[in-house]
Amino acid sequence: MISSNEDSAQSPQEKTPQMPDFLHENPHIYDEESNAPTLGMTELVKEMLSKIGEDPDREGLLRTPLRVDKSMAYLTGGYRMELDKIVNNAVFTEDCNEMVVVKDIEFYSMCEHHMLPFFGTAHVAYIPDGKVIGLSKVPRIVEMYSRRLQVQERLTQQIADCVNEVLKPKGVAVVTEARHLCMMMRGVEKQGSSTIASAMLGAFKKNSETRNEFLSFVRTRTV
Ligand SMILES: [Zn+2]
Repeated sequence: MISSNEDSAQSPQEKTPQMPDFLHENPHIYDEESNAPTLGMTELVKEMLSKIGEDPDREGLLRTPLRVDKSMAYLTGGYRMELDKIVNNAVFTEDCNEMVVVKDIEFYSMCEHHMLPFFGTAHVAYIPDGKVIGLSKVPRIVEMYSRRLQVQERLTQQIADCVNEVLKPKGVAVVTEARHLCMMMRGVEKQGSSTIASAMLGAFKKNSETRNEFLSFVRTRTV
């Protein structure tokens, strides 16, 4: 069965940050003009502008607090997505034992240490055990976990755990490749280098042949 609580897809020792209380209390604050969700933190952004040495009242910055607020609401929208609604009606009974691979799923996330973007691609594979999921739902799962404050390793593991929980397949494999602006912009990392993380469950963990089959899929560049 599909769990109504997305956090139950994780192992207990890997407790992730919960949705802040105020978001539970005010899950739908909308900007009336654009009808886009906001987080109600325009004053905070104004203060931030002052602190970095800007004049929040100069013309170019007048609407910046609202724009930042709305953009932040979007970029952290994963906290407000529900797994049930994402996979709803898209899990099918299917007598298929072949590896299913969804590769090159673009994602954009923010590192929880600096709140700067990291972005790249995720490759997700599973071996069904009687159940498959609509292919378009896999990128939605990636989105639900990437649009949060994250570390790449946890993001990768959460995607794998989630697919595992929803489908109870014979195995799940997830590889993410990302570039971290917090390292690139601050000069910690050479431009152009990327970080790779992986999570292997079930057959992908136990069977090196299965794992290698997936990894060779991932390495093959599609046109
Ligand atoms: Zn960082």
